[in-house]
Order: sequence, then C-alpha cells, then structure tokens
Amino acid sequence: MSATQRVLLVTGGSRGIGAAVCRLGAEAGYRVAVNYAANEGAARALVAEIEAGGGEAIAVRGDVGSEADVVGMFEVVDRSWGRLDALVNNAGIVDVKARLDEMSGARLERMMRVNVVGSFLCAREAVRRMSTLHGGKGGAIVNVSSAASAHGSAGEYVDYAASKGAIDTFTLGLAREVATEGIRVNAVRPGIIDTEIHASGGQPDRVARIQDTLPMKRAGTSDEVARAILYLLSDAASYSTGAILNVSGGR
Ligand code: NAP
Repeated sequence: MSATQRVLLVTGGSRGIGAAVCRLGAEAGYRVAVNYAANEGAARALVAEIEAGGGEAIAVRGDVGSEADVVGMFEVVDRSWGRLDALVNNAGIVDVKARLDEMSGARLERMMRVNVVGSFLCAREAVRRMSTLHGGKGGAIVNVSSAASAHGSAGEYVDYAASKGAIDTFTLGLAREVATEGIRVNAVRPGIIDTEIHASGGQPDRVARIQDTLPMKRAGTSDEVARAILYLLSDAASYSTGAILNVSGGR
C-alpha cells in the first residue's frame, strides 16, 4: 500500500449504508476505518472482506455520542495511517414509533447526542486534521441526513426528523466555515432504504409495508446511497460544498 493512499473514516460502518460506503470506498482506493458501536463481529468481517479484495481497512470501536470515544477513534486512525482525507458521518439511530407527548427526556437526549452531537464531534476532529488552517491538506466530509428532515415524520418520530434537520443546517454552516481551508462539506438525504435500522426502531416490516406508497414503488438500497456519497467525496464533486443531495427515489 502506498503511504500516499487516501484515508476514509466511516462512522457506523459495520452494516447498512455505512458498510456499503466502506466497500465502495475500498474499491475506489481509500484505506478505510470502519467505526462501529457494539457489533465488533460485523466490523471485523467487513475488514476481512475488504482485505480479501486487496484493500486495507481497520475496525475502530467508538460511540459517536461520547466525546472521549470520538477523540480516541481519530487517534487510532492517526496511529494507523497518519493522515485523514475523508469522513462520512453516517452513524445514526431511530427509536420506536411515538408521538411527542409520549417521548421521554432520556429518549430525546440520546437521539440528539448520537445523531447531532456525534456528527459535530466527528466533524470537529476531522477539521482539526484536514483544514489547511491547522496544517492539513484538505479533505471532504459527507453527512448522512434523511428525507425525514424535509417532511418531519409526524406520528412516527419527530425527534429523529428534527435531528436530521440539524444535520442539514450544520452541513450548510460548516461548508461555508471551512470553504477556504480545502474542506468540502456535503450531505445526502436518503429516503426509505432497506437496512436493519427499521427493525431497530421496532418496525422490521416497515419497508415491505410502505414501499408501494413510494414514487418508485420500491425502497432504495445501501449501494444506491453509497454511490452518491462516494461521488460527493470525490474530486468529481470539486465545486460542490454545502450541497444536500436527495437519494430518496422522489419521496
Ligand atoms: P443501521 O443499519 O441501523 O446501521 C447503523 C450503524 O450505525 C451500525 O453500524 C451501528 O453500529 C452504528 N451505530 C449506531 N449507533 C452508533 C453510535 N452511537 N456510535 C457509532 N456507531 C453507531 O442504519 P442505516 O439504515 O444504514 O442508516 C445509516 C444512516 O442513514 C443513519 O444516519 C440513518 O439515520 C440514515 N438514514 C437511513 C435511512 C434508512 O431508511 N435506512 C433513511 C434515511 C437516513 P453497531 O452495528 O455496532 O450497532
């Protein structure tokens, strides 16, 4: 492997959309840091798969909602490869379907801590390493928002939708803040994508139940979202910053 090979860190890389980004990133020539929260086996299996394909990857545990974990995660990447070129803020959670008048404070704090504060902390560590202001060589950040930020998820999870609204605004603000420092910051807004997140929100049948109501009559795949993310990371998107790309099948 070349010492000049670019390094990509993907939060929540062990499954779903994040795992697809890790696979496509490795194919595109990145060394890939696969972050996970709990499922070490899935992260290690993905690392082995990337290595078997001739790529280079490491698994890095860390809860993005913990500042100490985030700092430690970036230090592992520093020690492993000594550079960082790209961050995908993908880790995110939903909770069970509920109205606002049923939501606990603990639920709301967890939602905002993981989905919002986690993305801010990871972006902060990336900017500290990539910004030319700090002696870095520039880079790219892609935040994973959701189509929910545009429609609000009434009666299902307004907390999740609002956390993604914060990600949209953060994308715009940070993009402008670091635009002269070699860093581009963009976001994707996936629609209904067929991953395990729906089961973790207590609705394993969600995709099957609603896919006929979607404009394309089908859910999207993790690969379809990952391809959009890889485009925004790439030099092909060199004049795009602060952009929010819907990958929602028209939803
Ligand atoms: P998923 O299948 O549930 O996978 C979530 C990933 O995030 C896993 O790798 C998980 O790691 C990791 N993770 C969870 N909490 C974490 C934490 N606190 N710190 C670090 N990693 C954490 O999710 P997905 O459907 O691929 O969603 C990925 C992103 O896309 C999320 O931001 C989600 O909001 C967004 N999105 C998804 C959809 C959809 O329909 N699927 C639609 C719009 C937006 P472990 O396996 O170790 O728990």
